Amino acid sequence: MSIAETETGPPAWRLLLGYVRPHRRALFGGALLSLLTGLTGLLLPLVARGLIDDLSHDRAITGALLAMSGLVVANAMVGALGVYVLRRTAESVVLDARRSLSSYLLRLRVAAVDRTEPGDLMARITSDTTLLRAVTSESLVGLGTGGLTLVATIVMMGLVDPVLLGVTLAVIAGAGTVIGLIAPRINRASKEAQKAVGVMGAALERVLGALRTVKASGAEHREERALHDAAEESWRQSVRAAKWSAAAGNTAGLAIQIAFITVLAVGGARVATGAVDVGTLVAFLLYVFFLISPLQEVIGAVAQYQTGAAALVRIQEALRLPAEPPVRSAAPLPSPGDRPAALAFHDVRFRYADDLPYVHHGVTFDVPARGMTAFVGPSGAGKTTVFSLVERFYDPESGEITLDGRSLADWELSSLRAAIGYVEQDAPVLSGSLRDNLLLGNGEADDDTLAGVLKTTRLDGLVARLPMGLDTLVGHRGTKLSGGERQRVAIARALLRRPRLLLLDEATSQLDAVNEAALRDTVADVARTTTVLVVAHRLSTVTMADRIVVMDAGRVRAVGTHRELVTADPLYAELAATQFLATGG
Ligand code: ADP
Ligand code: MG
Repeated sequence: MSIAETETGPPAWRLLLGYVRPHRRALFGGALLSLLTGLTGLLLPLVARGLIDDLSHDRAITGALLAMSGLVVANAMVGALGVYVLRRTAESVVLDARRSLSSYLLRLRVAAVDRTEPGDLMARITSDTTLLRAVTSESLVGLGTGGLTLVATIVMMGLVDPVLLGVTLAVIAGAGTVIGLIAPRINRASKEAQKAVGVMGAALERVLGALRTVKASGAEHREERALHDAAEESWRQSVRAAKWSAAAGNTAGLAIQIAFITVLAVGGARVATGAVDVGTLVAFLLYVFFLISPLQEVIGAVAQYQTGAAALVRIQEALRLPAEPPVRSAAPLPSPGDRPAALAFHDVRFRYADDLPYVHHGVTFDVPARGMTAFVGPSGAGKTTVFSLVERFYDPESGEITLDGRSLADWELSSLRAAIGYVEQDAPVLSGSLRDNLLLGNGEADDDTLAGVLKTTRLDGLVARLPMGLDTLVGHRGTKLSGGERQRVAIARALLRRPRLLLLDEATSQLDAVNEAALRDTVADVARTTTVLVVAHRLSTVTMADRIVVMDAGRVRAVGTHRELVTADPLYAELAATQFLATGG
């Protein structure tokens, strides 16, 4: 699934103005410098007129030539400064957009991310934001400076000869009409091109995220085709946009040529009747050529804005995904503190999305502070979902989850999560070094604490064996570690957080007997001071638990000890007999 395309909502330029507003002074300064260049240039025809006048009256032209050279050099310097200031400002706008988007994406609700392609979101942060650069430095500024220069040139032309100006304006109005027809086409093609970049990002993420599976399945060709299709679609649409942009750009040149010919004809006639002199006609013709650059600038700005608007809409769509409240932004909520936490589910009903079946049909259980509770049940029963709800990755549709008797929603979200150590069932490791992974949840842990936790999770031997020790890179999703090592790294990370509530989603078959026995002792130890919830697949873990919650198809079937349940619950008896892995004794 992908992010909903929206036709409604505030227009794209409002978002752009929001990004640009903090930089308005720099932008204005840069635009002013550019404008100054344009206006200084405007003096050149007047100097030229004086020059021609001097020549025809046999006067020396050294002064006029010097003035012209001075103007040209000053113009170039001011122009360069203007360009630098504008580019810099545009880069700052891109930076701000990337910063705010990445912060926003980190706060997205897990449910929102479930419905998107991470690769597409990535493209929106990296590729779409890049397009804001040109929109800022070229479109906004181009419209401003180009527009003003255009007006100033037109005023000068009016001063020189109003009749010829009328002729010129008629031609420019024609060009404006053509651009008005072309602009929406550029916008549509650009939107499709950026969308294809997003599709390519998603396809890349899919392949690189599961490269081994793709290779082992011999599916390279099929995946290659999907990548090429997306790349080609982006190419096709970009070429379409380029075609219309080129047409728009050339409209300026064409309009000027037509204006030149028309002015020459009409002006020639006016010279013949003596209405104007040759110098005036030459000055006017020079002004006609001076129109080229601001006209192109304005037309380019309109065309460029279409591409930027397409990107802005995509950024806007991402910013409309539901996010968690910013940390400590709302009224301050209490923090669970540092006691072991008691947890309870009261008739919790939950489904992952409105169009999906219920996963929890009224789940109720009580877990007192301290001790170990095991969750067992067939695959798909909803055990992992219990943990997701405790972490508030999702919220139940009805019913209530309480921690220390208080609804989860009444705890400050970040401090609620700070109280929990969560060991995920799958892929619990990030790329980076072992140390990064261990300290992810607690950057402040000192070396002694770290060494202690490495020992209890039996990772000390692994660290000693690795040439780079804790600085060893573990690869994407920890592919350079074995399944059991990954799981132990995740447990060590959770323990380093000194959690009040430890959620351990046991991987089905990743620990060897020796390490498993050791870890079992560690977990039993932790359970003396902490509340431990384990989704258990091993008889050894289950028998150790203080209480066992048996789940099936989104309901709690029974709660009790192993001894009680073996006789009381047929499903449990069957699981115990056939499904629990008997490793580790
Ligand atoms: P268990 O851990 O007991 O094996 P889960 O809690 O992981 O079961 O999943 C329960 C049900 O919810 C399964 O049918 C699964 O397909 C579905 N499910 C799990 N995660 C998601 C998700 N992110 N989006 C939609 N459905 C999901
Ligand atoms: Mg599970």
